[in-house]
Amino acid sequence: MSAYTPIRAPRGNVRTAQGWIQEAAKRMLMNNLDSEVAEKPEELIVYGGRGKAARNWEAYHTLVQTLDRLKNHETMLVQSGKAVAVLETHPLAPRVLIANSNLVPHWANWDEFDKLDRAGLMMYGQMTAGSWIYIGTQGILQGTYETFLGAAQKYFNGSLKGTITVTAGLGGMGGAQPLAVKLAGGVSICIEVDESRIQRRIATRYLDEVASSLEDAIARATVARKEGRAVSIGLLGNAAAILPQIVRSGFVPDVVTDQTSAHDPLYGYWPIAKEDEDLTAQRSREPERYLERVRADIALHVQAILELQRRGAICFDYGNNLRAQAKIAGVNDAFDYPGFVPAFIRDSFCEGRGPFRWVALSGDPADIAATDAALLKLFPDDARLNQWLPWAGEHVAYQGLPARICWLGYRERDKAGLLFNQMVRDGRLKAPIVIGRDHLDAGSVASPYRETEAMLDGSDAVSDWALLNFATGIASGAGWMSFHHGGGVGMGYSQHAGLVAVADGSEEADQRLRLCLTNDPAMGVIRHADAGYEKAHRIAAERGLDRPGVQS
Ligand code: NAD
Repeated sequence: MSAYTPIRAPRGNVRTAQGWIQEAAKRMLMNNLDSEVAEKPEELIVYGGRGKAARNWEAYHTLVQTLDRLKNHETMLVQSGKAVAVLETHPLAPRVLIANSNLVPHWANWDEFDKLDRAGLMMYGQMTAGSWIYIGTQGILQGTYETFLGAAQKYFNGSLKGTITVTAGLGGMGGAQPLAVKLAGGVSICIEVDESRIQRRIATRYLDEVASSLEDAIARATVARKEGRAVSIGLLGNAAAILPQIVRSGFVPDVVTDQTSAHDPLYGYWPIAKEDEDLTAQRSREPERYLERVRADIALHVQAILELQRRGAICFDYGNNLRAQAKIAGVNDAFDYPGFVPAFIRDSFCEGRGPFRWVALSGDPADIAATDAALLKLFPDDARLNQWLPWAGEHVAYQGLPARICWLGYRERDKAGLLFNQMVRDGRLKAPIVIGRDHLDAGSVASPYRETEAMLDGSDAVSDWALLNFATGIASGAGWMSFHHGGGVGMGYSQHAGLVAVADGSEEADQRLRLCLTNDPAMGVIRHADAGYEKAHRIAAERGLDRPGVQS
């Protein structure tokens, strides 16, 4: 059962599993590995370097079969992508509990993980890959847009019009960058070393055009900037070579960032290759020398970013731990530019606001259009939502099951969830809706170089919050919950929880959705109130969040 055969999740309102949560988990696992969705489905890799949905093919088939037989008072346990038990629980318990890539802190590094991975004992779950709620590049599109818009608001009077952003990495998540910059009004040059990734972004309308050289890219970008035209330009090449070339050329972009998979230096960041060189052969032959080479190139890359910052570019780290890898390579001032969360996103987190998403199990895009329209009515005063949803409806190409991302906060997500459940119940939607979020959320993650960088009270590395979030979801009726280590920034640098719920139109779903979609974002508000953020205190007070012991 090891050969790869293309996977496509079933569509429609007829299920083979015993309940809709099990059916949803099965379809979402399959959807994560749909070739439209996953970056390398034949290797079970969904996105983010080697973020996988199941440990191996045998484990994948066992997961699918077990989900089909799992009863409505049972819970399946998944350990690093492998089903290990079906236990009797109770009807309102999660149907699936997942733990991926977790290591005891002293051993929490890539060497230990790789050893266990090679021995077939673990897999890297990234964030939404191993928790079966990845929805393709759209999943990060709105967050990426929020980030670039944050930069626009802070530095460019609210729009990126007339600016040029330089970034790298057009993978599963990074591929959202060109479209997000465009939506914020700007021009982007996106460097990518793998031509097939460039072609994939062109095919899915995330990227507009491809330049033939750096000079060509700068020329095209400069003309577009002058004309105030928003356009995205791909450039084939290695960021470690091209960024220093940009410095030498004297061209200073307005914004510089990066989304290569630098969190996983061995597998996620390609060093500069000599002509006809087989990098994968060197990697497996001499991994340590190969890693030295990667880190030396990351150092060149980050030194160039720092130089562009000195020359006036707005630079930020885009959550891939590039700075930490550069620091290991001896770039002592690598952290002189900020991460994107403290720079642009923390304010949203104080409202419990983050990457909420949902998926139509019918497979019918009309269901997503109906949910979009319903949300616009539900939140008529939310300016960001009112800009985002119509735009997304028009421009976003679906990958796999039709889905939508839309950032919502505390006391908003529960309203949306209950509305969707009502729409399933009264037949306005053709089949149940899966509702979830990224682990990159307001109260679900501890990641000192990303989501919890530079917390007001210095509590960046406290991961009690992520564990409380995992437990809270279980206590509040989530359909499935997951707890992972190393997502986003790599082994040793993060711990985080994921939540998924299902609106199948039932009264039980009302109960589950009301609790879990209230309590999950509440964790974001509490976490930030406890750290001393005034806005979080205000939101908690306004929206009635009981928080004994957390003083303003
Ligand atoms: P991916 O592995 O699918 O894509 C990475 C891309 O970078 C690949 O296309 C690869 O060819 C390219 N690349 C690697 N080395 C390069 C180099 N030296 N020069 C040019 N291109 C190079 O990963 P992804 O899902 O796109 O995620 C990218 C990174 O962003 C990861 O580290 C991930 O953890 C992080 N991430 C950040 C956020 C966020 O919100 N900031 C969200 C998700 C993921």
